[in-house]
Order: sequence, then structure tokens, then C-alpha cells
Amino acid sequence: IEETLVLVKPDGVARGLTGAILARIEAKGYALVDVRLVEPDRERLEKHYAEHAGKPFYEPLLEFMQSGPSVAIRLAGNRVIEGFRSLAGTTDPTTAAPGTIRGDFGRDWGLAVQQNLVHGSDSPESAARELEIWFG
Ligand code: ATP
Repeated sequence: IEETLVLVKPDGVARGLTGAILARIEAKGYALVDVRLVEPDRERLEKHYAEHAGKPFYEPLLEFMQSGPSVAIRLAGNRVIEGFRSLAGTTDPTTAAPGTIRGDFGRDWGLAVQQNLVHGSDSPESAARELEIWFG
């Protein structure tokens, strides 16, 4: 059985959408293996977002991710990596398809960072790396 890391990012937690997001994940049939409220320090976020270091949105992204707690979820299921990314929708909430988490709940605040409610690992390698960072 495959596992992935899902984060309900600070905008999702602050807007009270954690339950609605978990409900979609559970309704889809994925198993919650571990769920934690986390306030990540900069070091953890630098590891998580290493691939984006140096991009224009990198510093604002790290600041945003420290603006409040996130919910970290270890999620299991057949093809859950691909499946959760499909549930989440594409990165930009304005164009994410209706029916997806970002498409239904995501708002474009016109800020330097796409506040897009959730994160999901994008490959088995990323999932293993990110689960280690968030769950050890
Ligand atoms: P995630 O990895 O968080 O599931 P993603 O794979 O859709 O999202 P990435 O390209 O990995 O997106 O970017 C990580 C995060 O960085 C995005 O979720 C978003 O918050 C932010 N981001 C990405 N691209 C941009 C951009 N062009 N402008 C502003 N913020 C961005």
C-alpha cells in the first residue's frame, strides 16, 4: 500500500476547512495513518521546499507556512499519491477544476504566494522524503 504526505496548510486550518478536507479524503476511501497539528520551524520548511530555493515566491512561501499551524497527514491507499493530487486540483486555485479542494475552496488573494489550502507529495520519492521530514 502506498503512502503520501498531505498538509492542510495554514490558510486551510485558519479558515476552518480541516474537517471538510479530511471528509473528502475519507470519503474517497484513503486511510488516515497519522494526523498531527504542527508548527514547523524554518529549518523543516527549508528541507520540505528545497526544490524551490531561490525562486521569487520561496521566501514568502516559507513565511506563509510559518504564519500558523498546519495539519500533517500520513495517508495510505492504492495510488494515493496520484489520487490525492487529483482530489486537490491544480496549484492555482482560480483555475483548479470545480469539484477539487482547491477549485471549490481556494481563493486568489492576489498575494506573492498561492494560498492553495493543501500540499500533496508528487512522487514516491518525494513522499518518502517528506514523510521523514514531517513524521520522522
Ligand atoms: P504542493 O507541492 O504544495 O502540493 P504544487 O505541487 O501544486 O503544490 P509546487 O509547484 O510544488 O506546487 O509549489 C509549491 C507551493 O509553492 C504551491 O503549492 C504554492 O503555495 C507555491 N507556489 C508555487 N508556484 C507559485 C507561483 N508561481 N507563485 C506563487 N506561489 C507559488
